[in-house]
Amino acid sequence: MEYVHRIEGERKISLSDFDPEETHGLKRNEAEEKMSRLTEELVELQELLYAANDTRLLVILQGRDTSGKDGAIRGVFGPLNSQGCEIASFKVPTEAELAHDFLWRVHLHAPASGQIVVFNRSHYEDVLVVRVHHLAEEKIWRGRYDHINNFERLLADSNTIILKFYLHISREEQEKRLMKREQDATKFWKLSVGDWKEREHWDDYTVAYEDAINKCSAPHAPWFIVPANKKWFRNLAIAEALVNALKPYKENWLKRLEKIGERELAAIEEFRRAAQSSGAKT
Ligand code: ADP
Repeated sequence: MEYVHRIEGERKISLSDFDPEETHGLKRNEAEEKMSRLTEELVELQELLYAANDTRLLVILQGRDTSGKDGAIRGVFGPLNSQGCEIASFKVPTEAELAHDFLWRVHLHAPASGQIVVFNRSHYEDVLVVRVHHLAEEKIWRGRYDHINNFERLLADSNTIILKFYLHISREEQEKRLMKREQDATKFWKLSVGDWKEREHWDDYTVAYEDAINKCSAPHAPWFIVPANKKWFRNLAIAEALVNALKPYKENWLKRLEKIGERELAAIEEFRRAAQSSGAKT
């Protein structure tokens, strides 16, 4: 039983069918214990992914304002080796970005072999905020679902594991979180009247998210709906999904490392033999 809801292939989900409060009856301390075990596993899997250097991991985080994208980055990806993990945040496009196709700025950050890249927002904004705020003609944003599917197919065909997480919070929870920011000076930097304005488009975003999830889910690029009202459960659910997705690769990565080891050990041996016979010191 997974804590996230995996969506792949032709589906017709409604977000209202998923409970953002869900915690599978877990208590916070139980979840924290599980989380520390999963974090250890994830750190170990990242090391293998990095060392084997043939697979790439792209994690996409999407969700409404305050849904916890930043918190998930800290809580789930914080413990990873930063040499092999990059965070790419996509904000309002710059002039230069707007002068290119919508995937240009995104493709630039696609992970290289052995690397993990986490997208904090992504190319999905081009069928979310762009759709809700009519920033492009309907014909343009409607055409983007196919472009996104083709793009993700290309990445998957290039050895990229793609995992897309929608952090699912309720409208009430968003209000609570926005209000809380107003009472905590350390959170003042996050205050934005824009967040309250965006709330007025709640239902439009729901439709846009449902379309993005339904039109762009595939076995090689699934969406995961993450119950995210409880921050500790959100992080646990994401960590578990990552470990489940990476584990099946472990054996192959170990085999690859074995081969790298054999090749390099043979080269070292050969070098030592040659050095000994010529009397050089090593
Ligand atoms: P965040 O809310 O992610 O912590 P910001 O407050 O800087 O960070 O918000 C980034 C903003 O950029 C969001 O409102 C998002 O909708 C917007 N954005 C991202 N991509 C695009 C895009 N392609 N077109 C228009 N706006 C975008």
